[in-house]
Amino acid sequence: MAHILKLDVSGLPEGWISPQEAAGFYATATVAWTLGEPWMTLRGGYNRMLERRSLMPLHPIIAIKGRSRNPAGHDTVPALTRRTLIRRDRNLCGYCGLVFDERDLTTDHIMPASRGGAHVWTNVLSACRRCNHGKSDRTPEEWGHLPLFVAYTPNKYEGLILSNRRVLADQLEFLLAGVPKNSRLVE
Ligand SMILES: [Zn+2]
Repeated sequence: MAHILKLDVSGLPEGWISPQEAAGFYATATVAWTLGEPWMTLRGGYNRMLERRSLMPLHPIIAIKGRSRNPAGHDTVPALTRRTLIRRDRNLCGYCGLVFDERDLTTDHIMPASRGGAHVWTNVLSACRRCNHGKSDRTPEEWGHLPLFVAYTPNKYEGLILSNRRVLADQLEFLLAGVPKNSRLVE
């Protein structure tokens, strides 16, 4: 199920919400403004005056009135999971550079976890099983194969793209505008 991108009233993204959650904002008139053409319509309650069910068109992006619920959220580091990492690295192994199915990629700690390497965006790369096995608990320098690209921390906009498999065109356009130029998403 596609999701709706929720912004605060100033246009900063807060996160993905379900169509049902969005309907709640429409119903309570807390939607300040919207972006994009409605992409689905929810059926509302029966209206006796009009003798028909009300229809609620949902926009792909909605800004909600009132104070931002998460003022510090803009500096929030996106959740690091195997799936979001693989999407950041575009299904490439960071050492041999080949493309793999998600199920065939592992999370490699550049500085091995066994040697104090942290589980943070800047210390992880997608790696195929063969490279991960070959590298073992060595650093890339010790192994003799340097990473092919930089391990970086996605910002909030990029994190929202990485965490949703079905980003709609209007949403992608909005979020990409907030992704730094050095992101692998905009290469
Ligand atoms: Zn590899």
